[in-house]
Amino acid sequence: PTMAHSKAHLVLENFIGGKFLPCSSYIDSYNPSTGDVYCSVPDSGKEEVEAAVKAAKDAFPVWSSKSPLERSQILNKLADLIEHDLEAFAQAESKDQGKTIMFARTVDIPRAVYNFRFFASSILHHTTECTEMATMGCVHYTSRAPVGVAGLISPWNLPLYLLTWKIAPAIACGNTVVAKPSEMTSVTAWMMCKLLDKAGVPHGVVNMVFGTGTKAGEALVCHPDVPLISFTGSTLTAQRIMEKSAPHCKRLSLELGGKNPAIVFDDANLTQCIPTTLRSSFANQGEICLCTSRIFVQRGIYSEFLKRFVAEAKKWKVGNPSDPTVDMGALISKEHLEKVRSYVKKAQAEGARVLCGEGVDSLALPTGYEKGYFMLPTVIAEVKDESCCMQEEIFGPVTCVVAFDTEEEVIKRANSVKYGLAATVWSSNVGRVHRVAQRLQSGLVWTNCWLVRDLNLPFGGMKASGIGREGAKDSYEFFTEVKTITIKH
Ligand code: NAD
Repeated sequence: PTMAHSKAHLVLENFIGGKFLPCSSYIDSYNPSTGDVYCSVPDSGKEEVEAAVKAAKDAFPVWSSKSPLERSQILNKLADLIEHDLEAFAQAESKDQGKTIMFARTVDIPRAVYNFRFFASSILHHTTECTEMATMGCVHYTSRAPVGVAGLISPWNLPLYLLTWKIAPAIACGNTVVAKPSEMTSVTAWMMCKLLDKAGVPHGVVNMVFGTGTKAGEALVCHPDVPLISFTGSTLTAQRIMEKSAPHCKRLSLELGGKNPAIVFDDANLTQCIPTTLRSSFANQGEICLCTSRIFVQRGIYSEFLKRFVAEAKKWKVGNPSDPTVDMGALISKEHLEKVRSYVKKAQAEGARVLCGEGVDSLALPTGYEKGYFMLPTVIAEVKDESCCMQEEIFGPVTCVVAFDTEEEVIKRANSVKYGLAATVWSSNVGRVHRVAQRLQSGLVWTNCWLVRDLNLPFGGMKASGIGREGAKDSYEFFTEVKTITIKH
């Protein structure tokens, strides 16, 4: 028997109106690092979504009329409770998702805690606008009110992190929510539900409906009493959500995929650039929407960069995610692993060179993990810009390195994909990074760093990477309805 079988099988329940409720059918959830089924996730549909929306609607009048300070105190309490159980949440996230315990402990769960603290604070500091029209004897001002029941749909790569990035602003603004986490990673959301009562979140304010996208997700998207949907996931799913919600003219926030470039000029500080670009390519198994997957290196330093980058990538340790010395855990599913691998094969077939990783180096896995969905960090060179590896989101530990000559050329090539989420620029010339950042079609541009976030500022993508932004002010605007009021003396 494998490790997973020896542990108790976990059965999740929906959380509706403050109660844990069983479901009539369940979906198997796998432990990606062993390949074993270890958890049953409710396979909710219309009926469960209906009950959850009703509970959220019933809870709205009381919750929405609480003062921002009252809501803020409850959010802070919830943050404290999650933080108190940080280790248990981190272990659960690592087991459910395949990510390393170190990543869950230092990134996922602390950020989930911070999401609540951040919006608990920011909700206290918003002001609305006012203008005067003296000649008409009028003042105009805006007022903002919560919208109602918010539908929140999140992906599997950063489960609790991304879910709380939606729940926190939604409820801070006075909305009530029905959330549907990814069916592949529902455990930490269910664990959080157990803390809501203790934090003082009234019944019905946060409802969790577990299940697949096509069944539970679509039921939420199509529900007439859910006027806004905040979605993070793939571009393909977003298109479907736009279609399905069109008859109801819903308000949508869509955070989607990326094909993010890193641009390394020949005056870059490679001592900083190389370790950061390794992280930006392979952190969380490359399963972050902000991960770099196209590295453009200026011709003069191309060979040196490639040599050093590949040497460092080969040092990454892949295996048991609960080993704190491991750098990369397992990919989310067998199907996803196969998909990621297929991109490497396609690149080889097109004549690109795989310099390390998949198909080139061998991966030795510790006992008990041989059936896990692991692959090595993979670096591919000499890939054509038109290749699917340079155009499509792979969402795994695969990164392509190509050479460029001029600034003009690299901007054009970096922009020549359908996505526009995040870019990194490496150069010690301030004028150049400023110029290039201005011209990149990307919602976020990091220069000489990666993934440094100030939650106050807008987050989101352009082109096929999304519609709308999230952040202190942006989330406040999305989760509230604004009204302009005119008063004449
Ligand atoms: P996905 O689109 O398959 O699923 C995301 C969520 O939507 C899941 O909860 C899923 O069950 C649900 N869903 C699927 N079909 C649905 C439908 N028809 N109606 C309603 N809901 C539906 O994405 P994924 O594979 O879980 O996540 C990976 C993707 O998410 C990648 O493309 C990645 O780039 C993107 N992502 C974007 C951001 C960002 O902030 N821009 C962050 C993380 C991940």
